[in-house]
Amino acid sequence: MEFHVDIGPQYEGEAVRKEDLYMEFGGPKVQHKFELARVREPDEIEHEKVEVVGPDISDLAPYDDEKGTGSYPIGILVEVAGAVLDKDAEGIIERRVHMFTNMIEGWYHMNQRQDTWLRMNKDCAGKGFNSLRELGEIYNLLYTSEMSIIEKIQTTIITDEEKIKELLPQALDIYRARDERARTLRDEDVDTFYGCVLCQSFAPTHISIITPDRIANCGAINWFDGRAAAKIDPEGPIFEMPKGDLISAVKGEYSGANQVEQVRSLGTYDRVYLYSAFEHPHTSCGCFEAIVFYIPEADGFGVVHRDFQGPTVIGEPFSRMAGDTSGGKQIEGRLGTGLEQLRSPKFIQADGGRKRIVWLPKEIKERYKDAFEADGVYDKIPTEQDVKNVDELMEYLDKVAHPWLTGEVELPEEN
Ligand code: SF4
Repeated sequence: MEFHVDIGPQYEGEAVRKEDLYMEFGGPKVQHKFELARVREPDEIEHEKVEVVGPDISDLAPYDDEKGTGSYPIGILVEVAGAVLDKDAEGIIERRVHMFTNMIEGWYHMNQRQDTWLRMNKDCAGKGFNSLRELGEIYNLLYTSEMSIIEKIQTTIITDEEKIKELLPQALDIYRARDERARTLRDEDVDTFYGCVLCQSFAPTHISIITPDRIANCGAINWFDGRAAAKIDPEGPIFEMPKGDLISAVKGEYSGANQVEQVRSLGTYDRVYLYSAFEHPHTSCGCFEAIVFYIPEADGFGVVHRDFQGPTVIGEPFSRMAGDTSGGKQIEGRLGTGLEQLRSPKFIQADGGRKRIVWLPKEIKERYKDAFEADGVYDKIPTEQDVKNVDELMEYLDKVAHPWLTGEVELPEEN
């Protein structure tokens, strides 16, 4: 099969910056977007079929900041079949959209699920890549050549916004069901964690450690997904990680995770705490759904998600904070995180957990209301609608007697 551009792992670390941007699909300027993988019965799909629903690259105006053109909605639906494939594999097949798009010369993929973001550069357009059909054909080729368990594949790329709006609720239900399944399992219930190095092309010292209590930073891979991935593709970027010995139950330090951290970060780090933002925090790549950030004035934490518009309570928007947090470094007081982790009882438990959160975007506070109510802090945490800066934050926390500031929250101690 002939394509207009080259394909290979050598393109994986290549970003598409604004100056080189020809067109983008999804991303923060676009309201409706998703990527989804489904496992089907063989007779439900037509092998190697590609369908583009809606206007194609050649029908759309290129990126122009002044005219406000160049950012478009997208839905990517990858449907696969195979004798040993089951629904458990959907999450990790879907996550390969990230890797495979980044293997295409001139293309760049960020984020996941309902936050997906694809960019194509001007060189790529200049070489004649003018149809999303080609993108679908590349996906079909890469999926079947890189994942031998996929025997049939069909890819649909949707740019018709009405159609995306119609399908998006189904996609959100499927993401939710995957996350709910992992909620009852705890780290102490398993002997094996999973590691993912899919994002090392952008963040060479980053390893996502995926445990029952810790969904991956991107929010797209939970412990069950990790298990399915390691089983069906043992040579792939997601691998088994024996837990080893428990070194600290409070901080979440395990000898197995430390060993992997050392080997896979090429010796940059040799310890990692899974339940703390201090000393040896988990690294952050660039795909995290949200950032947990320390606010020194309150000695507490804020959380900001990728879709949050405008400045946070510390005056910085998500984009600037993401630049400082990403790259695969351990940064004390900064954690890239999957949002589902907010529900875990182990979420920064060594530092005080959810009871140490002192600022949240309204949307996140409402989405995880039950978890904050269970801790008795739902009414104590201000949002962007209550406070605009750190001075107002301190006044608010004082007024509501936030339990972290009144000293009611006790930090857990090692047994
Ligand atoms: S954020 Fe982590 S889990 Fe998600 S794809 Fe990247 S390395 Fe893997």
